[in-house]
Amino acid sequence: MAVASLRREPGGDHLGLDVSGEEWLASATIIQNEDIMSLSSPSLDTLFTWIRTESPTHDRAGVNMMMDLVVAQMQDAPVAVERVAGGQGLGDVLVLRAGPQTSAPGVLVMSHLDTVHPVGTVEAELPLRVEGDRLYGPGIYDMKGGAWFALEAFKDVARRGSAARPMVFLVTPDEEIGSPITRPMIEELGRRSAAVLVTEPARDGGQIVTARKGVGRFDVHVEGRPAHAGSRHKDGRNAVYEAARQILAIEALTDYGRGITTTVGMVSGGTAVNTIPQHCRFPVDLRVETVADGEAVTAAILGLKPSSPDFRLTVTGGMNRPPYERSEATSRLFDNARSLAAEIGFDLVSAPRVGGGSDGNFTAALGIPTLDGLGIDGDGAHTLQEYGLISSIAPRQKLMTRLLETLC
Ligand SMILES: [Zn+2]
Repeated sequence: MAVASLRREPGGDHLGLDVSGEEWLASATIIQNEDIMSLSSPSLDTLFTWIRTESPTHDRAGVNMMMDLVVAQMQDAPVAVERVAGGQGLGDVLVLRAGPQTSAPGVLVMSHLDTVHPVGTVEAELPLRVEGDRLYGPGIYDMKGGAWFALEAFKDVARRGSAARPMVFLVTPDEEIGSPITRPMIEELGRRSAAVLVTEPARDGGQIVTARKGVGRFDVHVEGRPAHAGSRHKDGRNAVYEAARQILAIEALTDYGRGITTTVGMVSGGTAVNTIPQHCRFPVDLRVETVADGEAVTAAILGLKPSSPDFRLTVTGGMNRPPYERSEATSRLFDNARSLAAEIGFDLVSAPRVGGGSDGNFTAALGIPTLDGLGIDGDGAHTLQEYGLISSIAPRQKLMTRLLETLC
């Protein structure tokens, strides 16, 4: 159970590691001294606790335990914490506010604390462990590492009273399933913001994200007519066969030249090997670069017709996240961040448009300058090889701090 993952046991390996955060820091040689100094061992222990606190989206208790950890993290800091109950059986949402109390548009930071890994992953397939500079564990890269250090930066800036604008930090429980409960909040807070900073993981070598494809999701249900596969074959209308035809049509909508992809990644149908199946269902994933392509392909998918009147075809869904197209305002925000990174001592590069959607798509689509991929560097999102690079934490935490202090 997730409850057990919060329990700390006495002794150096209470986090399931061979070493405590302090011992690890003493032995770490890969990261620069300055970086080590700025990562205090209690806070690294906190990050380890975060990873041990498993929080798949549909595990409300686990996600809420993560929210508890954030509330605890903000204790004693001049941060107003608003906790909104999550609906639809999902975890709670946190809205943290700090900085100058003015009506000027603020800076909005967004992080999600749900992960895709089922409870138990950290005990079995993806144990929390440090290998050189790599910290392995479920959700470390997507996106607990980035959320954690961004919250640290937020807290520090709040304490110092050095924020350039009102600061709002939105911590969400539902990004991995398309943000069904938080989208209205994201859009409302986004509209009141001068800039949005998203702590999704960095791309190959620390690149940040200034454009993402839009994402559509659909569910297709084919209904045919059941029959005995031996004695009444002719009477049956095979829903799996019809689904196969529809899948070919859907996959054919892929157009790499225009950046359009359609994927049927799962299919379920039938009840027995010797029965003509009555039902078949499958979801469709769609990625597009432009709003126009999103509308056109959505219309094509929703307009699919059965190959014969003997089949019933029901298609639901639509665009889930609009494309995040790099605007001029976002370009200026990126240039700003790049010069701050240069002062800190690293080169900030923007990745080519990435295929994965995020909550940044919602704010970018509203025309709010949005920088994404400001989280931890590493690799292996959504896989059992997921890791974050510990050496990327300190410089990127500093970048978040400087953004909060200087964006005006
Ligand atoms: Zn993510």
